[in-house]
Amino acid sequence: MKHANQIKALLFDIDNTLVNRDYAFTMYIKDFVKRNQNSFGSKCYDSVIEEILQIDDRGRFDRSLFIEKILGMFPGLNMSKEEFWADHKTLPDFVRNEYEVQEMIKRLKEDYNLAIVSNGSGDMQRMKMRYAGLESLFTEYFISGEIGIEKPDSKIFTIALDSLKCLPEDAVMIGDDMDRDILGAKKTGIKTIMISSAENRRKNADKNIADIVIDNILELEKVLPCLI
Ligand SMILES: [Mg+2]
Repeated sequence: MKHANQIKALLFDIDNTLVNRDYAFTMYIKDFVKRNQNSFGSKCYDSVIEEILQIDDRGRFDRSLFIEKILGMFPGLNMSKEEFWADHKTLPDFVRNEYEVQEMIKRLKEDYNLAIVSNGSGDMQRMKMRYAGLESLFTEYFISGEIGIEKPDSKIFTIALDSLKCLPEDAVMIGDDMDRDILGAKKTGIKTIMISSAENRRKNADKNIADIVIDNILELEKVLPCLI
């Protein structure tokens, strides 16, 4: 597949972009609450899960603060921070294999340089990619936990571009987070494609500044030729 524009590199976020993190986290928390069912007092299963999901804020809430907050809210868990973090690190076990995404990435690799630009701990993010069947399809990983710079800092994008020998205007950032992925890339001069559900789009219609918005990562191939 030949592309008409000058786009040379595609930079991908991981959580809720390539990997269905919402699904994996919900499954992990359901399992966690079930395993610790006697630690939540009289609270019902569904309300405990709902409270934890709210604090998680789709993974946006800082992980060490998340751990502290949950342990503070549910003292019955009687766990140390280290124990809870070790448990939390099993989250990738719940990541779904993304067959269709794998096939698309293989096709895109023929025409573009691909890289991962992700916030999070290196081992956790790489493990999510492995369980989704995507880890080996990428050779360039720029993960905040490994390089010490987080999105939306321009520096993380610049490091990725330098490594790919690509100008900002010849690259596209694909992600689901308006501040970290879209604003971060935009201020670096990179083009942007946002993954956002129709519901989210309605809520944030006035704030949308991405060049293109799609519902699902699988629409990416279809819209890439529209970028100029
Ligand atoms: Mg994300």
